[in-house]
Amino acid sequence: MRNQAQLLPLCSKLCVRERVAMHTVLRAPFNTFRHIDLVDLHVVGGPKLRSFTVASAAALFRAAARTVTSWVQWLGQMNSAAREHSPVAWTQQGYIYPKCWDSPALAQNLQEAFGGFLNNSKYSVAGKLIKDKLAEKNHWVPPAHGDAFFAEFRGLQRFAYDNIMATVFPARSDTSIIYLCKTRLTQMFAPFDLFAESDDEIEKAFETLKPMGQHVVVKVLKTWLHGWATSKRMSEDPVLPCLFGCVGQLDSQRHYVMCPHIFALLRYLIGDIPDDPCIRLAIKVPSQHALKINGF
Ligand SMILES: [Zn+2]
Repeated sequence: MRNQAQLLPLCSKLCVRERVAMHTVLRAPFNTFRHIDLVDLHVVGGPKLRSFTVASAAALFRAAARTVTSWVQWLGQMNSAAREHSPVAWTQQGYIYPKCWDSPALAQNLQEAFGGFLNNSKYSVAGKLIKDKLAEKNHWVPPAHGDAFFAEFRGLQRFAYDNIMATVFPARSDTSIIYLCKTRLTQMFAPFDLFAESDDEIEKAFETLKPMGQHVVVKVLKTWLHGWATSKRMSEDPVLPCLFGCVGQLDSQRHYVMCPHIFALLRYLIGDIPDDPCIRLAIKVPSQHALKINGF
């Protein structure tokens, strides 16, 4: 894939598959995390997951700028051949390759990447940002493909990757995983308002959680983000009743966070368990002890 990415843009459907793959790696039900949470997990102490779709776009840009710089000559030859041999109706639509081809020419892919991904709604903003920053670094002169500027630019692909990530997954308060946790926990405990008195306890919980290791972070986040694979969560038919035997209660995380049987079991196994489910889940009065119970 690494070699192909230098010449071929990935199918846009792979974005969804990337999310599925990341959830599979984390053993979490699909939609537990948003895409931005998956690539930002390392910020809160989780594993650093690399986006292969963005990495492929960055590789394509690097190839067009530095590695495969003869694409302009290829385009010239293809334009000449198209004018001479292709039907006029076909070339007037902008096609410079035969109808039997199943995708644009490699030279056109490289041209599109170097031009700033203008025809790609997902990457076009990043493409402009990359070009502007490169021009600024080159004394406000846009560097040409194959220029000595690119030969001397260390970490060009990383530069492109970071800039694409910054625009595709922008860091805002409403895109943070802490914001999502607050939203999901509020829904989980509705109608009780968890954050009525103070809404900075969740930030303290994240600070306590961060140094505890990637595996604990992921497990705790799955709980806070309503990511238990219950039959209710997975929309199974039928939805099972509480697996611990509560009458009239469903197999759902909304019930399990307050399930009296789980509470009794924890008290039997661990002993000193607080009555308040928010403290048990380490959302309030966060401690490493409570987080470890959630993480194992
Ligand atoms: Zn129960």
